[in-house]
This record gives sequence, structure tokens and C-alpha cells, in this order.
Amino acid sequence: MIDILNECNYCLNCKLKPCSNKGCPLNNDIPTFIKYVKDENYEQAYKILSNTTVLSGVCGKICPHTKQCQGSCVRGIKGKPVQIGELEALVFEKTVKDEKALYNCYKDEIKETNKKVAIIGGGPAGLTCAAFLARNGVKVTIYEKYNYLGGLLIHGIPEFRLPKDIVELTVSNILKLGIKVEYNKELGKNIFLNVLENNYDAIFLSYGANNSSKMKIPGEELDGVYGGNELLEYKLHPDYKGKKVVVIGGGNVAMDVSRTIKRLGAKEVTIVYRRDRKQMPAEEKEIEDAISEGINFLLKSNVVKINGLKKVESIEIIKTELIKKEGESREVPVNIENSNNVLDTDFVVMAVGSEVSKITYDLGLDLNEWGNVIINDKCQTSNPKIFAGGDLAGIKATVAFASKSGKEAANNIIQFLCS
Ligand code: SF4
Repeated sequence: MIDILNECNYCLNCKLKPCSNKGCPLNNDIPTFIKYVKDENYEQAYKILSNTTVLSGVCGKICPHTKQCQGSCVRGIKGKPVQIGELEALVFEKTVKDEKALYNCYKDEIKETNKKVAIIGGGPAGLTCAAFLARNGVKVTIYEKYNYLGGLLIHGIPEFRLPKDIVELTVSNILKLGIKVEYNKELGKNIFLNVLENNYDAIFLSYGANNSSKMKIPGEELDGVYGGNELLEYKLHPDYKGKKVVVIGGGNVAMDVSRTIKRLGAKEVTIVYRRDRKQMPAEEKEIEDAISEGINFLLKSNVVKINGLKKVESIEIIKTELIKKEGESREVPVNIENSNNVLDTDFVVMAVGSEVSKITYDLGLDLNEWGNVIINDKCQTSNPKIFAGGDLAGIKATVAFASKSGKEAANNIIQFLCS
């Protein structure tokens, strides 16, 4: 726990605000909100944050601060950066949690319009887009597949990392803006793009890309091979008690699913990753937490085959070396010949990336080679009335970047509606 006053005094209130302008994807006015925290004026601090974000409680908890705001903090050059994430989380605790929510004050400023926008998917991008549209008087309806909002904030990030009450409070605060929600509505099943197109002035697609990618290696079809995203989302875990589990990948999904499986009683959980630790996409804190909870790491190792008759029995791995290749921005892992090894395991979990759902291919929109919806610099798809953002459009997969894309889409939709 930080000493709040000391931490606020430690901030230099830099004129150029690199924490905000360079580090924070949402450009939150960090030194100004810290100034209000110092004065114990938490409501004003919350209002400053709310100018640029509607997910401050969530971001305070789970943003990769060391790579974003704190990674750009001037204090971090010679010592420890200001603990911006903790201060942001504190502001949420002191305001929204005490039910002194401030969205109502925006309501007075809202000038109602007769424009209507449908948002498909109520995750970070969809919620942010909905909030910024509603704050500009647009009538918004969110169509959500589940009977709750939040998307991966609820079912993709475990409770031990992001308590659900923070997401629920965030969502209820956003809905106070008068946003309608149609729950249990899934695109292609009980809602259809052409119908929505006839009933709304614009549509924002933000239903994510939550299907675990395959490695296309032999044995992936065996019983006991799972997708990391699906395990986190649907929670249909096998009985891990006394079993060995291998998780393939080096991102936050790999860390989250490994720690979840360990908590569910697995005897041994090993993360296999083809690069080294410093190249892991997961945040350092998540890696450290995984290590402290007893997760094993097998680095610079590539899985080439999963062995078993009907069910997984072992995996074959090969050692890699990292080589700088021309035209590549970072070192590339290359298999070292004859360094193969076999590792016994009961289950294999794929956490090597995510893909869009099948329905995306039937929408009639232009897609890139990975199936992501192509958008222009105005967040518009190949159909100018349909906008897209977040993972679905291939936006870098952190909550803050998804939220940023929702905010940018809202600004562009408003321009489109006014044109
Ligand atoms: Fe404060 Fe660090 Fe931002 Fe400077 S860069 S204003 S010290 S938080």
C-alpha cells in the first residue's frame, strides 16, 4: 500500500506530461488528477479522469502501467516512477464505490439528438463508445450476447486480478447515461446486420476476437487440448487435481489461465514459450505473480507435436535460439536442430493468440488476412455506416487500447452523423 500524500508530492507536475501524452493510450490528464488527490478532492480527480476515460477503475487495476503511463514517467528515469495505477484505482474507490458517482453531472450537459446508434458487444470498446456517444446526446442501444455487460472484463480476466464488483460498478455508472441494453442478442443468431442497418443511423461492431488460435501442429485434435480463451470464458475446466498441464504462449491469457488452473488443483503447470522472458507480451507483474504462485516456465522452446492415442500423453518440444534477421524489428526464434525433447503432460492449453468468430466472415465487410475487420482512419469499415474497433479490428489487445478505439469510433461516428 502506498503513502498517498508522499506519492502525490513525488509527482513533479511536469509541463510536458509524458505520462499522459506518451504513456497513456487514453491521454488521461495524470498530473492534474494527482493534484486533486493531494487535496483529497477525489470527486474532482474522478471528473478529470472521466473527461478522457470511462474505465478508470478497471484501468487502475489491470493496465500494464509499467509499459504505459508509469513507463513514461520522468521519475522513473532515475528511480521508481509515480505509482499512477494505484492512485487511479484509489480515486475510483473513493468516489464510485462510495456512490458519489459523477456521471449524473454530465447528464445536465447532454443535448439530446434524434440520432440512433447500435453497438454490437458490450466489452471495453463497446462500453466506451456507448458512453462517449451518449454524452453527446446520441441514443445508444448495446446488443450483448450474454446476460451481462463487460465482455472479457468479466469472463476473460480472473477475479484475483480484476474484482467483478469494479466492473459492475463501472457498467452501472455508464448505463446511468441512459444507454439501452438488449441482452442475450448474438449477431447472426437473433440479430442481423441488415435489420440493424435499417433501424439505426450508424452501427459500431465491438464483439471482440475471442476464439483461441491454433498452432496447426499434429495432435491438436486430441482430447485434453483446450483453448485458453474458451477455458477463461466458459469455465468448462476438466478435473486438474494431481495432473500436469502445459500452457503454450507468453501473453496475459497464458498467465491468467495458468494461475487459474493451478488454483483449481493442478499438480504442475508449465508455460512453454518460444522466445525469452523479456520478449513475453505479458506484463512483468503478471509473470512475477505466476512465478511466485509456482508456475514453471520453459523458455526458448517450441512445441512441434502433441502425442497421444486418443488423449494427450506428452508434447514434443524443440529448443530455439533468437536470431536477428534482416527486416525484422526484433529477434526471431529459430528451432535448433536435434534438440527435441518429450515432456509428459495430461492437458495442453493453447494461449498463442485469438481469432475472430466465424460470423465475421459472413458480414460482407472487407477483412484482412487474419479475419479482422478492416477499418479506415475514421474507424469505418468497407460499409461507411458500419464502424468497428477493439480486437475485432485487430487493435492491440489491452483494455486501454480497446477503450481508446471505442472513444475514437464515438468521435468519428458523431462527425459522420453530423455530415
Ligand atoms: Fe508526475 Fe511522472 Fe507524470 Fe511527471 S511524468 S507529471 S512526475 S506522473
